[in-house]
Amino acid sequence: MDIKAEIERLRALIAYHNERYYNLDAPEIGDYEYDQLYARLKELEAANPQYITADSPTRKVGGAASSSFAPYKHLAPMYSLDNTYNAEEIRQWYERASSSLKRTDFEMVVETKIDGVSCSLTYEDGVLTKAATRGDGKIGEDVTANIKEIKDIPHKLLCPIKGIVEIRGEIFIKKSDLIKMNERQQEEGLVPFANARNAAAGSIRQKNSAVTASRPLSFYAHSYGWGDMGVESFTGFIDKCRACGIPVSPVRKVFTDIEDVIKFYEDFGRTLHNLEYDADGLVIKVNSFALQKELGETAKSPRWAEAFKYPAEQCQTKVKKVNFSVGRTGVVTPVAELEPVKCGGVIISSATLHNFDEIARLGIKIGDIVAVERAGEVIPKVVKVINSCAQAELIKEPISCPVCGGVLEREEGEVAIRCINPNCPAQIKARVQHFAGRDAMDIDGLGEAAVEQLVNNGSIKKLSDIYNLTLFDIMALNAYGDKKADNLLNAIESSKKRPLGKFIYALGIRHIGAKTAQLLAEEFGSVDNLASAEESDLEKISEIGAVVAGSVHSFFASQEVKAELERFKLCGVSPISAPRRKDGGALSGKTFVFTGELRTMSRAQAEALAKENGAKTSGSVSSKTYAVVAGEAAGGKLKKAQELGIKIMTEEEFLALIKYRSEDLFG
Ligand code: AMP
Ligand code: ZN
Repeated sequence: MDIKAEIERLRALIAYHNERYYNLDAPEIGDYEYDQLYARLKELEAANPQYITADSPTRKVGGAASSSFAPYKHLAPMYSLDNTYNAEEIRQWYERASSSLKRTDFEMVVETKIDGVSCSLTYEDGVLTKAATRGDGKIGEDVTANIKEIKDIPHKLLCPIKGIVEIRGEIFIKKSDLIKMNERQQEEGLVPFANARNAAAGSIRQKNSAVTASRPLSFYAHSYGWGDMGVESFTGFIDKCRACGIPVSPVRKVFTDIEDVIKFYEDFGRTLHNLEYDADGLVIKVNSFALQKELGETAKSPRWAEAFKYPAEQCQTKVKKVNFSVGRTGVVTPVAELEPVKCGGVIISSATLHNFDEIARLGIKIGDIVAVERAGEVIPKVVKVINSCAQAELIKEPISCPVCGGVLEREEGEVAIRCINPNCPAQIKARVQHFAGRDAMDIDGLGEAAVEQLVNNGSIKKLSDIYNLTLFDIMALNAYGDKKADNLLNAIESSKKRPLGKFIYALGIRHIGAKTAQLLAEEFGSVDNLASAEESDLEKISEIGAVVAGSVHSFFASQEVKAELERFKLCGVSPISAPRRKDGGALSGKTFVFTGELRTMSRAQAEALAKENGAKTSGSVSSKTYAVVAGEAAGGKLKKAQELGIKIMTEEEFLALIKYRSEDLFG
C-alpha cells in the first residue's frame, strides 16, 4: 500500500473508533489496539510531513487518546454490599449484628441505594488530589481529570481538614437529565444510553475530560473511606460532608427498631419512583463507627451494612404492533404498541425500541411476549423477549418514510435511518414544535395540538409560515375562539424580539444545541454573518469542532434555507446579538486552559478571572488554545501543550498579563 493511502486508511479507522469510544460509549477495540493505530499514524506522519493535514486525529485532542487510566490503590478497600430482598432476610441481618454486639439499642441509618457508579475522592489538606473508580475494590482507575469536571464536587473543601481523607460516594445522572441526554443522542442519530447507570459509567471513563464536562453528572457522598475527619458516626460524617460543601443524598432516617426499618422499606417502595434519581433499594448502616469497627467486614462486604433492595419494576406484555415515529431531523424511531399492562403503578401501552440494531439484538417480533421495564420515569423499554410463537411477525425496516413516503437513508457510521424529504409533514411538525419551544422562540400556545392541525391543513409548510398566520387561520382550528386565537397571534408577534441565540437554536440545525447556538450568536452577531461564515471561520472557535462546523456550513448553503432567511427578514424576524466586547480586556479572543493545582485560587476562580478579562476557557488543549496555565502537579494537559507547541505559563505570569492589560504582550 502506498504511504498516503495508508495514512488515509489509518485516519478513517481512528476517526471511526473515536466515534465509537467518545460518542457512542461502545468501543469496538481495546485501548492497546487503538494506541497501536495511533502510534503508527504518528510515525508515518513524522516521516512524511507533506501528508499532515489539519484534521488528522494526531492534531486534535479528541483523537489524542492516552492509554488506559492509571491504576490507583485505595487507602482502604471499597466494599460491595450484601443484598436482601425481603423482611425476613433483613431481620436475620439484624439478629446477627445485635447478637455480635450483644446489644439492641444501637442506631441504624437508612439511605437510598443510588444506582450509579462508586467513586472515591481523596482530599489532601482540603484539596482534591485524586479520584478513582472502585475497580476490584482494592485497585481502581485514576479518573481525577474527569471527576474534576463534575460541578457538584468541590476542588477545595469549605472547612479545614488536615491530612489525607478519602470520601466515597456515587456518581449518577438524574432521570430528567437522562431523558434530555437521550433525546439529544437520538436527534443526532446516536445510540441512546440504556440507563442512567451506564450513561454515568461511560461518562466518567472518557479519555477526553471535555466529554465528561458536557455530561450532566451529579454526586452524593455516602461512605467514609479513610483518614481522620473528626467524626464518630455515619450521621456525623454526613454533617461534616455537608459543611465541607460535598453534596449528600436528601433521604436519610435514623432508627433503633428493625421493625420500623421494615415498615419504612414497605412505605418508601411506593414512592421510590418519585425520586429524581434511580435507586433500587435502601442501604442500612450501623451508625456508630466504634460499633462498625466491632462488627468488621467479610472479604467482600461490611457486616455493619446491608442493601435492602426492591425487585425491579418489570412486567410482561404482548407486542401488538410496531409504529414508526419521525423526528425533527427525520430520524425514524420504532415504537412498540403494547397490550396495556400495569407496571410500577402506571399503565404502559407503548415502549421505545430505539432503532433497528436494538430490535435485531433483542430479536423482537410482533406478537412476542416481552419483558418491559420502566427505566426512570417516562420511557418504558423492552428488555427481552420472554416468549415467541410461530405466528410472530418479523419487524420490517421501512423502505420509505412511514409518514411522507419519501426516501430513507442511513448515514455511514450511524444506526439511525432518516427520512431525507425536507417537506415531510412529520418533520415539519417536529421542527415547528422545536422552533416554538420554550428554549427557542418560546411561542406560548403553539403546542402539539395546534401544530398538528396547522400543518395538516397546509397553513404551515415551512417555519416562516408561522409569521404569516392570520386570525382567520387560527380561528379555523378546533377549540380556538377569538380570544385564544388573539393570544396566539400576540405570542407569535412577541417572539420576533427573541435574541439571536434563541433564533439560531430554533432553526434546528443538526448538532446545534442551545449552548452552541448562543456561542455562535455571540461570535457572529447576526444571522447574515453566521450564514456567510466559512467552515474554517467556524472551526477557529475553540468550542466548535469539524462536525458542528460542517453541519452549520451545509445548513446555510442550502438554497431553501437562504430563501427562508429572506422570508423571516420580510416578516420582521431579524434578531441580532450584542457583539462580543472587542476591547474586552487584555485577554480578548484568547483561549486559556488551566491545569494542575493553582496556588492562589481555585480553577473555577481562575477561569472566571480569565473570562472577566475577555478570554475564553476550555477543559482541553488543542491547536486553538492560546496558552496553558500550569499549576503544580500538572499532567496530561501540560504534556499535550508541549507536544503541540502551545505557550505554557505559570500562575504568576497569567496574573501579570491581566495587570498589564496590554495587547503588546501577545506575539
Ligand atoms: P453493589 O454494587 O451491589 O455491591 O452495592 C454496593 C455499592 O452500592 C457501593 O459500592 C456503593 O457505590 C453503592 N451505593 C449506592 N448508594 C449507597 C449508599 N447510600 N450507601 C452506600 N453505598 C451505596
Ligand atoms: Zn418523511
